[in-house]
Amino acid sequence: MSEEFGEAYAAGVVERWRGVRAAIDRAAQDAERDGAGIELVAVSKTFPAEAIAPVLEAGQRVFGENRVQEARAKWPGLRQSFPGIELHLIGPLQTNKAKEAIELFDVIETVDRESIAAELGRLIPKLGKAPRLLVQVNTGEEPQKAGVPPQEADAFLEACRERWGLAIEGLMCIPPAEEPPSPHFALLGAIAARHGLRTLSMGMSADFEAAIQMGATHVRVGSAIFGHRG
Ligand SMILES: *Cc1c(COP(=O)(O)O)cnc(C)c1O
Repeated sequence: MSEEFGEAYAAGVVERWRGVRAAIDRAAQDAERDGAGIELVAVSKTFPAEAIAPVLEAGQRVFGENRVQEARAKWPGLRQSFPGIELHLIGPLQTNKAKEAIELFDVIETVDRESIAAELGRLIPKLGKAPRLLVQVNTGEEPQKAGVPPQEADAFLEACRERWGLAIEGLMCIPPAEEPPSPHFALLGAIAARHGLRTLSMGMSADFEAAIQMGATHVRVGSAIFGHRG
């Protein structure tokens, strides 16, 4: 084990993880919701297996990674040591990585365009493995950000179902960094509600409490648990 992720790091990361879980439960209580219904997706991108293991030992089982290649290097080994892991893809998916993503991930949160929806629709029946799927909505309509524009979300969700046979479970968003996040969370919630979708992945280290207030079922928290990414 390297110095950087030694015993002191292990103690700190578990303490921060417990703190985040407690903050989720408090925010749920404030919103008159059941904290047990809010899933913490621990975002472990850029951190090596030795930094993640203490959190697994403490009982965390749901994790987020943003790159297929990185997940492939880290998670098959961790899955062997820790049963019951649920891995979420939270970064953009290239069509040429779709097969591997289906094999590696339990949840793909970033279905965001026709080409990837078509490829998932083609591969899932062939591979006989169906990850749970969320559609990413670009609520801030930022040109550099992935996601379906909000005004196209209804048509895209319908196409996912009708054209590509995909069972979409919910929606995900990443609000613009420089804006108050709550209107974006509210917009995502409104789109989900009119499609009867139950899963809302929204809220990160800086704003997960606000997201819980607005109905998040999954919060994706990285740096508040693992520390700053190098
Ligand atoms: C990195 C990342 C997160 C976690 O961000 P933090 O601010 O470190 O909590 C959440 N969601 C997505 C899509 C990410 O890429």
